[in-house]
Amino acid sequence: SSISIKELSELLGIKVNDILKFLLSHGISSNINSNVDFETATMIGAKYNIEVILEEQQDIESIYLTEEPDREDQMEPRPPIVTVMGHVDHGKTTLLDAIRKTNVTSSEAGGITQHIGAYTVELNNRKIVFIDTPGHEAFTAMRARGAQITDIVILVVAADDGVMPQTIEAINHAKAANVPIIVAVNKIDKPNANAERVKQELSEYGLIPEEWGGDTIFVPVSALRKQGINELLEMILLLSDLLELKANPNKRASGVVIESRLDKGMGSVATVLVQSGTLKVGDIVISGTSFGRVRALIDDKGRRVKKATPSIPVSVLGLSEVPNVGDKFYVVPDEKIAKAISDYRKDRLRQQQYNNINKLSFDQLFNQIQEGKIKNFNIILKGDVQGSLEAIKQSLLRLSNDEVHLNIIHDGVGAISETDVMLASASNAIIIGFNVAADAKARTLATKEKVEIRIYRVIYDLLDDIGAAIKGMLAPKV
Ligand code: GDP
Repeated sequence: SSISIKELSELLGIKVNDILKFLLSHGISSNINSNVDFETATMIGAKYNIEVILEEQQDIESIYLTEEPDREDQMEPRPPIVTVMGHVDHGKTTLLDAIRKTNVTSSEAGGITQHIGAYTVELNNRKIVFIDTPGHEAFTAMRARGAQITDIVILVVAADDGVMPQTIEAINHAKAANVPIIVAVNKIDKPNANAERVKQELSEYGLIPEEWGGDTIFVPVSALRKQGINELLEMILLLSDLLELKANPNKRASGVVIESRLDKGMGSVATVLVQSGTLKVGDIVISGTSFGRVRALIDDKGRRVKKATPSIPVSVLGLSEVPNVGDKFYVVPDEKIAKAISDYRKDRLRQQQYNNINKLSFDQLFNQIQEGKIKNFNIILKGDVQGSLEAIKQSLLRLSNDEVHLNIIHDGVGAISETDVMLASASNAIIIGFNVAADAKARTLATKEKVEIRIYRVIYDLLDDIGAAIKGMLAPKV
């Protein structure tokens, strides 16, 4: 698609002359009736901080992926989705295990437990879904991506240890997400267990037991001895009745990807949680840029199933790529639409990357005009704490000189990720990690894209190396 400079000028509110000048500075001579393509329009928009979006394409998403609100009479109860949180070693994993094992119904016996990211248990013919990854990190990572899937948090507190730092963190994360908490007071089998102390300590954080006039449910359990498990499950069901969890099962499914991987034999395998509608074999699914016809659905007992109703986790086979964890998925009417949405999103991703490069080249352009021809040294900086990151940034920027310009195009706290490598590759940068490592995916991509990653533990070494590199880049003096 293309647009005339006249139209673009009207749409963006930028003078025709300014556009022509801008294009000329990029070696493109044009006039008011010349057409520019979408990428060029984006580039012009970017100079004025205006985001350029293709309208016809934007409609594809809004037409097919906007969900109609459901009427009350279409809503049916759905199982609660539960995440287990708590301090390290307080028994989260043991509890998840105990729940899974004590609750094998006869119809499920013989099924082989599959770790697909979540599992379903049954009590009194009602289902409860547990997320397999305990802790608040995964919970919050999902939220950061806009996917709030947890209905109830089980806060595990060891009765022999009491409230610890991660207990408080978990409370804060659950509160921030507005998700109700049930407290599982664990390890009550231990001689030094003190459940009263746990209640006392937690009430300081607003979790007040019912017998003290509060509304928090406390259940004493021993995950190790599988005691109190059914009581805990009963309390989960009681709370979910109060929450009136409902969804409309009679429409095209949508939900969230909670786990994904590439399997040698099966290809892309994605575990999804259906949030509304019913997902069926044969449906056309889109998630991010990945799409395809559902070839098979596999449940948490390793059985092939024909459909998955709201809250139920299943592995989906048949998608074109491995979708991202935390991304939403939607069923769409046909494969053409799925492909069109995927293409649109790929374009948008490319455009975003392109905008990133362009921001840089605008700076370069500016600098080149100002300082004559200069060499740029682009850096992506990742560190373990904000404090050291700031210190390194300041020192690095002082290394710039008249001939070599040092740009820190991105910095942040945390491990070096695939997106960092993508950005580095796109902008010809090197990546510096201070007391952080690159994850496996990032390393693989870095090798492929020939992106240099350097890890340092001592600030002085880091500055020394970069200083030397800058000297090496200096034009030889005559
Ligand atoms: P997580 O780090 O919270 O996942 O804790 P784990 O489930 O790995 O448990 C940490 C340790 O506590 C392990 O050695 C468990 O066997 C033990 N443990 C867990 N639950 C109980 C319990 O109810 N009673 C006792 N005595 N030990 C438990």
